[in-house]
Amino acid sequence: MDRKILLNEKDIPKRWYNLAADLPTPLQPPLGPDGKPITPDMLAPVFPMNIIEQEVSTERWIDIPEPILDILYRWRPAPLRRAVYLERFLKTPAKIYYKDESTSPPGSHKPNTAVAQAYYNKEFGIKKITTETGAGQWGSALAFACQLFDLKCKVYMVRISFDQKPFRKIMMETWGAKCVASPSNETEIGRKILKEMPDTPGALGIAISEAIEETVRDTTGKTRYSLGSVLNHVMLHQSIIGLEAKKQLEMVGVKKPDIVIGCAGGGSNFAGLAFPFVQDKINGENIEIIPVEPKACPTITRGEFAYDHGDTACMTPLLAMHTLGHAFVPEPIHAGGLRYHGMAPLVCQAVVEGLMNPKSYHQLKCYESAMIWAKTEGFICAPETSHAIAATIEEAIKAREEGKEKVIIFNYSGHGLMDLTGYDAYINGKLHDYELPEEALKKSTSVLDGLPKPSTEKSGKW
Ligand SMILES: *Cc1c(COP(=O)(O)O)cnc(C)c1O
Repeated sequence: MDRKILLNEKDIPKRWYNLAADLPTPLQPPLGPDGKPITPDMLAPVFPMNIIEQEVSTERWIDIPEPILDILYRWRPAPLRRAVYLERFLKTPAKIYYKDESTSPPGSHKPNTAVAQAYYNKEFGIKKITTETGAGQWGSALAFACQLFDLKCKVYMVRISFDQKPFRKIMMETWGAKCVASPSNETEIGRKILKEMPDTPGALGIAISEAIEETVRDTTGKTRYSLGSVLNHVMLHQSIIGLEAKKQLEMVGVKKPDIVIGCAGGGSNFAGLAFPFVQDKINGENIEIIPVEPKACPTITRGEFAYDHGDTACMTPLLAMHTLGHAFVPEPIHAGGLRYHGMAPLVCQAVVEGLMNPKSYHQLKCYESAMIWAKTEGFICAPETSHAIAATIEEAIKAREEGKEKVIIFNYSGHGLMDLTGYDAYINGKLHDYELPEEALKKSTSVLDGLPKPSTEKSGKW
C-alpha cells in the first residue's frame, strides 16, 4: 500500500484539457454593457491576445509550452497521497486519495495558472502585470511567477488583509513584487474612495478596479491585468492537476474514482482536479463530483444562475454563472479564498447540466475536520481546503455505514501555515457559524433583476 504515488518528470502531462470542448450544452458567451456578446478585441486592453484566444477556445487539448513545464518541474508532478491515517481513524473501508497542491513554492495550486499567465504575457511583449489579492494567496503566486519571467508585478491588496496578514505581503516582496494596500493613493478610484471613506477596510471589488485602472492607463500598452480564478483559461491551466491524478490512480490500479471532491471559491482548484473526470462522466462513467463551498457564501448551492458582473464596480463583462449578486459582501469567515460572489462559468454550466452535486458547510465543521486532519495525517491545511476535507470525511463515514469500499479523491489545494490566526480563533472558541438569511439573499440577488438571463436548457442525461 503506497502512501505517496509519484509520477516521473517525463510523465508530466504535456497538454491541458479544456472542458468547453465536451460540455453537452455549450458555454454561454460573456456579454457587454449593451447585452451583446463581447468580441476578443474588447478584452485586448486588459489581457494579452494569446490568453484571450485560450479564453474563447473550444479545442479539447492545448499544448503546454516547454518554458512553462520547465518552471512547473520545481514541484510537479505533484504527489498523489493516500490518507491511510485518516482512513484508520474513521474505520472506513473507503480509500481516500488526495492530490497535494500545497508543495508549490507559494503553497497552493495558484501558481499553475500564475506561471502560465506570466509566460503568455511575456511572449506577448508585456512588461508589467497588475492584479488584486484578498488574503494574499493569489498575489504571492503571481509575484513568484513574474519573478521567474522577469516581469514587474503590482498587487493591490485589500486594506484589512494588508494590515492583519503581513506575511503574504512579505512573500510578494521577497519575490520582487510591489504590494500596496487598497484603496491606495495610486489610482483615481482609490483616491476618490479614500477621500469619501478614509477608514475603509477595502474590498476585493475596489482592488480589482484599481488594478484594471493601472493597466488601462499605461499608454505604452505594456501593462496587462491578471485574474487568478473564474475565467476559462484559468480552469484550463489547472487541469494539469486532474490529468496527473488520473495517471497516478492508474499506477495503483484504480480505473476510476467513485467520488471527486474540491473546495470552490472561484472554482479553479476544484475544476483543475475534477474536469478530466467530468469528461469521463460525460462519456458514461458513474462518478459523483462534489464542489464544496461555505454556508456563509453559498454561490452554487443557493445563488441564482444568471448573467452578472465579476466585480463589485461592474467593470467586467457579464458572465453566465451562479451568483449571489455582484454587490454581495460575505461575512468575515477565515476561508478568504471562498468569499467570492460568483463562480467559474464552466463549473456553473456543468452544474446546470446536473453533472455535479454541490454541497456547503459551516466553518466550525470545517475547522473540526481540519483538526482531525492535523491529528491523523499531520499536515495543517488551508481554511479553504478544510471544506474539501469535511466533505471527504462525510463521504468516508457514509461508505463505512454502507459497507462499501469506495475510492474518494480530493484536492488538497493548499497548506495553512500562513493562516494560523484562523486556527487560533477556532482553538480559543472565538469562531462563529454564519448562515446567509433568505432575506439577505433576496436582497443581494435583486441587483440581477435588470440584467439579461442565460438559458437553463440541459441535455437531461444527468
Ligand atoms: C485561492 C484558494 C482557493 C479558492 O480558489 P479557487 O479558484 O476556487 O480554487 C482554495 N484553496 C486555496 C488554498 C486557495 O489559495
